[in-house]
Amino acid sequence: MAFGLFYDEHFIEHKTGNSHPENARRLKVVKKRLESEGLWPKIFRPVTLRCTPEFLEKNHTRHHINRVFASCKTAPHSLDSDTPVSEHSCEAAMMAVSASVEATNQVMEGQLDRAFCLVRPPGHHAEKDRAMGFCLFNNVALAAHNLLCSFKLDRILILDWDVHHGNGTQHSFYADPRVFYLSFHQWPLYPGSGRPDETGEGAGKGYTRNVIFAPGTGNEDYLKTFKQVSTEVFEFFQPQFVLISAGFDAHRDDPLAQLMLTSEDFREMTRHVV
Ligand SMILES: [Zn+2]
Repeated sequence: MAFGLFYDEHFIEHKTGNSHPENARRLKVVKKRLESEGLWPKIFRPVTLRCTPEFLEKNHTRHHINRVFASCKTAPHSLDSDTPVSEHSCEAAMMAVSASVEATNQVMEGQLDRAFCLVRPPGHHAEKDRAMGFCLFNNVALAAHNLLCSFKLDRILILDWDVHHGNGTQHSFYADPRVFYLSFHQWPLYPGSGRPDETGEGAGKGYTRNVIFAPGTGNEDYLKTFKQVSTEVFEFFQPQFVLISAGFDAHRDDPLAQLMLTSEDFREMTRHVV
């Protein structure tokens, strides 16, 4: 099985400050661990710039794109109360989108069976018209757009197990039955969207599913629900491609939420999806 991990040093240059929970250490520790185990040279794949402002318009308004680029020029700047932008954040954001595009391309072209994008800034809170929640451009939504327009797929599953609801991703495809959005998240929690009765609209009705967990939910209860619901969705939707928004903040040690997953649980969830 060919597996690739996409990473670029530009991601470190998105400076949010050391006290910000989304900082470069998140990626550095992963890279260091993979290097110490001798895995990095085997799985590392470089990222080439594939993202253009025109491509970003598949998911974002020109107003939003221009605002992000303008904010990098006047950095340091903050696009909302917790979304800081530094001088090189735009390059990092463009490379994060590029990694998602490159990963989907290489899987579709048969060079890889599976891929992981070790990127920042993250993306699932980014709305069509605004940055929010540490996110500038919606990486996973743009990966789905790449699969829709470059490869003409029409059954793409975005499985989002980040502890927060991916409001931006949900809204990108809320009326689009070609992309099923399945989210598992803590409730109540930021950003406040993602109620179970949010199930899509128009032609997309029934192609969004939100599964919520109360703070403190045990990992066994979480895993049971995760396996049951994801199996139901796989059987119903028969996805051609699965994109995972793999936030790891449902881990029991994460300071921003109160779910109880262990590292082994994430391994089991990955195995289940694969
Ligand atoms: Zn999160």
